[in-house]
Amino acid sequence: MGKNAEEARTLSVASSEAVRTCIGCRKTDAREKLVRLVKSASETGEPEALVDLRRRMPGRGAWLHPSTKCLQLALKRRAIGRALPGVTSAGGLEAVFAGFSGHAD
Ligand SMILES: [Zn+2]
Repeated sequence: MGKNAEEARTLSVASSEAVRTCIGCRKTDAREKLVRLVKSASETGEPEALVDLRRRMPGRGAWLHPSTKCLQLALKRRAIGRALPGVTSAGGLEAVFAGFSGHAD
């Protein structure tokens, strides 16, 4: 038991050290505090940004705080299209991010 607890602690320390940059406010934060966006195709074949809640989708990801403020900043600066080349539609994200409200700032 002692040894497993030790390993678990080492793992959690290692993962908490992983930081990413929010494409909205450009601040770095722990990976756990950010949501991952990936490029996906809509039913019509248009590239669109999707929230990868499990952080397991393949491909290039972009990171954003779960805050509508950061989403708005990213949209305003067209940061999503830069981070996920080809993505022009991020319309679905606003509803998802509205559901995150209450977290971050
Ligand atoms: Zn942010």
